[in-house]
Amino acid sequence: SREWHLVARPHGWPEPTDFALREAPVAAPGEGRVLVRNLHFSVDPYMRGRMNDVKSYTPPFKLDHPMEGGAVGEIIASNAEGFAVGDHVLHGLGWREYADVPAKHAVKVDASLAPLSAYLGVLGMTGLTAYAGLFDVASFKEGDAVFVSGAAGAVGSQVGQMAKLKGASRVIGSAGSDEKVKLLTEEYGFDAAFNYKNGPVRDQLAEAAPDGIDVYFDNVGGEHLEAAISSMNVHGRATICGMIAQYNATEPTPGPRNLALVIGKRLRLQGMLVGDHADLQPQFVQEVAGWLASGELKYNETKVQGIEKAYDAFVGLLRGENTGKMIVSLDA
Ligand code: NDP
Repeated sequence: SREWHLVARPHGWPEPTDFALREAPVAAPGEGRVLVRNLHFSVDPYMRGRMNDVKSYTPPFKLDHPMEGGAVGEIIASNAEGFAVGDHVLHGLGWREYADVPAKHAVKVDASLAPLSAYLGVLGMTGLTAYAGLFDVASFKEGDAVFVSGAAGAVGSQVGQMAKLKGASRVIGSAGSDEKVKLLTEEYGFDAAFNYKNGPVRDQLAEAAPDGIDVYFDNVGGEHLEAAISSMNVHGRATICGMIAQYNATEPTPGPRNLALVIGKRLRLQGMLVGDHADLQPQFVQEVAGWLASGELKYNETKVQGIEKAYDAFVGLLRGENTGKMIVSLDA
């Protein structure tokens, strides 16, 4: 079995030499464990943070150990009650072909309800992030005008559509290519969208949201956050979900220069971690499964085939090569 190890801590952008694909033995599962053949695993922006040796909400990856992350696969040997060979499970030991998983950390998923990769995206972690971040953290209500950055990504594409489905007055998205911008307005039903590489975010947002915004869902930080603060209406709320524009920065990045506007506009900027919102999971799955079945909610995935491509998939994600959820598939 092959697995990816972090072998050096990236400084700035990750380099191929920071990672190694290594062979590891596969053994029969011990008591209470299952052996899983991974079919899809997730590469996510937060993993860049785990490559640094700093104290954070998740511990850093250990050097010369397999990296971890969301994965779905098929049980090929079971030593745990309630788990049978052939069952599909979601678990946290991605970045490898075969995973020796404690059954208490494996969740059964149903391949007949949705493609297995969906449990990593639209029906999984990134979908719940969108749902919880919009409805719980940002206290979205009908009639709000919503702006989301990273809008063609896994989280952002769901935020915009969910806002629309729940009666937003206007949904605006930003993304890094003209194709993505087209997808937002033509496929996902956004009212307006712009390519942040085509001009200052502040000007493009002001034009797209002439009456201002009530909710900002931040996936990017930096210039986007500053622009959003400028466009926010009184009592506006921002979910600070991610700041991908700075994950590879080697110097401290400038803060929003207009932060004082928070006072007069009585804005709320609220950070979030999806792990705090597990209580919403049943409601989230039920509602999203309904929207998927009716065709009201759409999603994209960018699948990269083969374990040897996982590094390219990860760096590609940071560069914006994905539309929707970036997934490494081993099912070929
Ligand atoms: P995405 O699918 O959105 O992929 C990342 C995207 O970020 C790329 O496709 C790229 O799109 C965009 N991007 C990269 N660099 C920049 C930049 N400098 N400026 C603007 N956009 C950039 O990833 P996810 O949906 O998985 O995650 C989105 C955000 O949500 C991330 O910040 C992530 O860290 C955060 N997150 C937070 C969670 C939490 O619990 N707080 C949970 C899950 C995700 P483009 O082509 O448009 O540039």
